[in-house]
Amino acid sequence: MNPFSPRPVLWTIAGSDCSGGAGIQADIKTAHILGMEVCSLITANTVQNSMQLFSINPVEVDTLEQQFDALLSDKTPAAIKIGMLADNRQLRWLIGRLRQFAPSNKPIIVLDPVIKASVGGDLSQEALDISLLQQLMTLVDLITPNWSEAQYLSETHQKDPERCWQSLQQFGAQALIISGGHGDDTDVVIDHCFFAEQHLQLQSTKAQTAYGHGSGCTLSTALACFLAQGYLLRDAFIHAQAFINKAFSLCPDNSDYYGSLIQPS
Ligand code: PLP
Repeated sequence: MNPFSPRPVLWTIAGSDCSGGAGIQADIKTAHILGMEVCSLITANTVQNSMQLFSINPVEVDTLEQQFDALLSDKTPAAIKIGMLADNRQLRWLIGRLRQFAPSNKPIIVLDPVIKASVGGDLSQEALDISLLQQLMTLVDLITPNWSEAQYLSETHQKDPERCWQSLQQFGAQALIISGGHGDDTDVVIDHCFFAEQHLQLQSTKAQTAYGHGSGCTLSTALACFLAQGYLLRDAFIHAQAFINKAFSLCPDNSDYYGSLIQPS
């Protein structure tokens, strides 16, 4: 890849993780490796380390608004990845902004509906309004929750992928990937991908890392990049999974897997 040739632009609208593993930092590393130029609208400046989330520190909506306007005319996004939103004001603002895209020049939008930090603790300052989250869901091409987020958003409260999808579809979701990495203490991870009548599943061996901090962010960003580059959703799903697996396999006993991300050959 020629590092100086123009790259398609990805915007990440997400929180900063000062420990470097998740959030904006994971998004930038992933998108850069996958050949994108990256712009960042930082929703919050979190204070955390590998053991604890100390504080969130949301950024004012006015700043996000100015950044959105500044970038729109200059660094037009091929894709937008949405991660952590710190409060309902940010959520309302983003819904308003995404509604302004004309269908003819709407970028690919991937929503990772982040609720909790991997180290524990809520990533939003107040409970995000479920009906606002569901409105946001209708404006995006793909949502990529983990299991607890999928159950919360779909209001099913069951670990049943088909029921989650049916319910999310009724709320207006266009496509869903449930990432199985966080949570259960099993040896295998199953990711589910739903769109239209399709249901694909990919099974991987659970990575032997101390924790999967940032793996959800990495997956959703990789998906946004591959979709922006023209891959069909099912192919983006397979590519993004391969990318994550390769990254994990590079440092199986290291908690900081994302530091070694490389492009799959
Ligand atoms: N965004 C931020 C700022 C975070 O700190 C985290 C996790 O701690 C996440 C998103 C979600 O991370 P994950 O990819 O582990 O789900």
